[in-house]
Amino acid sequence: MGQVVNKSILIIDDDIDIRQILSLKLKKLGYSIIEAEDGNVGLQKLKNEMPDMVMVDVNMPGMDGFEFCEHAAKLKPEKHIPIMVMTAQDDQGSVNRAYEKGATDFITKPINYTKLEHRIRFSIRSSETSEKLASRERQLLSAQKIAKMGEWIYDIKNMEFHCSDEVANIFNISKQRVMSHDDLINYIVDEDVNRVKAVLDQISIETTNDSLEYSIKLDAGVIKRIRQIIDVNTNDRIKEGMIFGVFQDVSDLRNAEQKVKTLALYDRLTDLPNRSFFKRLLAKKILFSSRHAQQFALLDINFDNFMRINSNLGHNVGDKLIIAACERLKNMLRDHNELISGQDQGVFETSFLAHLGGDNFIILLSDIKNADDAAIVARRISAKFSEAFDILNNEIHISISIGIGLYPDDAKNADELLKKASSALHYAKETGKNCYRFYTKEMNVLSFQRLSMETALRKALEQEEFVLYYQPKISLLDNSITGAEALIRWNHPEMGLVSPAEFIPLAESTDLIVPMTDWIIVEACRQIGEWHRNDFQLESVAINITPSSLLDKSIHDHVLNNLRSAGVQAARLDFEITESVLMEDVDLILPILEEFKEYGCSISIDDFGTGYSSLSYLKRLPISKLKIDQSFIREIMHDNDDAIIVNAVIALAHSLGLKVIAEGVEDKDQLEYLAQHNCDVVQGYYYSCPLVGKDFYDWAIQHESEVLGKEPANLASLL
Ligand code: C2E
Ligand code: MG
Ligand code: MG
Repeated sequence: MGQVVNKSILIIDDDIDIRQILSLKLKKLGYSIIEAEDGNVGLQKLKNEMPDMVMVDVNMPGMDGFEFCEHAAKLKPEKHIPIMVMTAQDDQGSVNRAYEKGATDFITKPINYTKLEHRIRFSIRSSETSEKLASRERQLLSAQKIAKMGEWIYDIKNMEFHCSDEVANIFNISKQRVMSHDDLINYIVDEDVNRVKAVLDQISIETTNDSLEYSIKLDAGVIKRIRQIIDVNTNDRIKEGMIFGVFQDVSDLRNAEQKVKTLALYDRLTDLPNRSFFKRLLAKKILFSSRHAQQFALLDINFDNFMRINSNLGHNVGDKLIIAACERLKNMLRDHNELISGQDQGVFETSFLAHLGGDNFIILLSDIKNADDAAIVARRISAKFSEAFDILNNEIHISISIGIGLYPDDAKNADELLKKASSALHYAKETGKNCYRFYTKEMNVLSFQRLSMETALRKALEQEEFVLYYQPKISLLDNSITGAEALIRWNHPEMGLVSPAEFIPLAESTDLIVPMTDWIIVEACRQIGEWHRNDFQLESVAINITPSSLLDKSIHDHVLNNLRSAGVQAARLDFEITESVLMEDVDLILPILEEFKEYGCSISIDDFGTGYSSLSYLKRLPISKLKIDQSFIREIMHDNDDAIIVNAVIALAHSLGLKVIAEGVEDKDQLEYLAQHNCDVVQGYYYSCPLVGKDFYDWAIQHESEVLGKEPANLASLL
């Protein structure tokens, strides 16, 4: 009896005697029994107790057995419950009717219990089997749905595909399970149709395992990528002229693959070929051009001062500017391509654009006749970029530098040619920006030096090879020390002390100037704090600062944090900014300087006389000192013009309420001349060259004691 344990049977009969006898007999066989006296109660119990089987009498008052079957079918219970109807002997009509209403078996009264035992067991088992089958079918369907895969059977004789539900989904042909051979062909896109047709036409029982991939176009214009597998190994129906296989929708997979490929080849911001893809295209172009004896040019393009836009207006604006610039370049190239090739141009006959990253674009200018052709395009591009960009309501002016490398004159392979164009670009940047330069052999040496210098500079930052030197500034009023200028030196392990004139411009043209300035601020604040603790206070220490450092967003916080942690007042810090570079970006820099002034820092204009500041500008700037460039001081005793300029600058500065500092004072004559003409402060070798912190301190103590005849201990109170 083990197999019937836990099986329950619902008996519905209005005749209580029959119910009880049946109940007794079946309980003996191990079934648990639920009883109901009519169809309504039976239906309720069916719903609530979900028996494993129902036995229902056909003839009952109220809801009879047929009606019960009908309602029970509508309930659609989760499991399959067999319903056995109990009919009178020879009532074939009722049996047929009950089957129609959903009954699964019948037994006639009076009941033969031996027969009943077998019928019940069979009914329950077969319902369990069909339940399992249905569940496997559901699993299979959902697996097919997940895999977007459905099976087909091809009837070779009638050329018909019989397809499963999922195939109907794939082809969007709701539940239509038969497709003719032609129907299928009609779905296939033009590019693939002949190839697929050839295979499908050949399908026969001799076909070997095969798989096809093609695209189909559905009614709404949707394109799907389909994989069709033809499997003859599992084909039991071969003899009937049927071939089995599956269709799978592999669109997502192929799209993802395509995306990965695209990401690897194209720049995400501009959708232009990226560096690695460009290199491949370039290599192919070289092959093509060598066969056709063609020349072409690479134009390596870079924005001037892009970093400033990014740090000042944010990366969002920076990105949008890149996109807008890309559009401008694309439009120009389109015109150019039309000009050079007319209509039927192959991919290697046209010029094209790539985005190598950041603000670096490159143009491959196809089939030029000579270098002049490249120069003409470079000039056109520069002119186009002189028009302002409107980016998120910001009017942005940007200039570009262009380096040009020529194939085959400058290099015959892709890497070399790219390097040559890049050297020319760096040269263009170093010789004033906003221009184009052709590659020349001399640049090779320069670019090598530049590269090794750049690498060494990065290392120097990591390994703290920089030192700050300090040069005193002396008041002409009483010969006292008013302050010092901090000047950076690079203590190179092999080269010794390297002058900033050699590495500052390089640091400025790379992104190294920002961390370098950060270090200078940390070190200067530390030194001022240390002197302070030794009772040695200068009016101020000047730091030289370049526009890119000023435009770095974190500069304010960095300065304030370092002043605070060194216990130094903001007034002790002076910023020297060179006149000519200040003028380039005056509108951007002005608000930043104003903020520094609000904190209490002072600002000096360095190398005054080398730029073209107008009086009105000077008035607008939040500055307190002008430093006359040393080139005027050098010849002041011999060159009348220089002397006149110096006098005029002093008068001008004083009229604007500014102090004047003369730098590069090397001898007594110069000093006396400047003193006579009311210059306020001097700085130069006459007093001292720049010194390391400790030497500067010693020098200052000595100087003050000489000048003032006081002991060093009293120095602080006198300053
Ligand atoms: P600068 O700011 O105009 O600095 C004055 C330069 O003149 C310094 O050269 C100084 O050593 C030199 N000098 C001082 N007195 C005399 C003199 O009597 N005769 C002559 N012939 N020269 C004198 P240095 O230190 O080589 O700096 C050169 C330039 O490098 C500086 O010009 C400044 O623009 C830049 N620089 C130096 N240190 C820094 C720094 O820490 N940060 C930045 N951003 N730039 C710096
Ligand atoms: Mg300076
Ligand atoms: Mg200077």
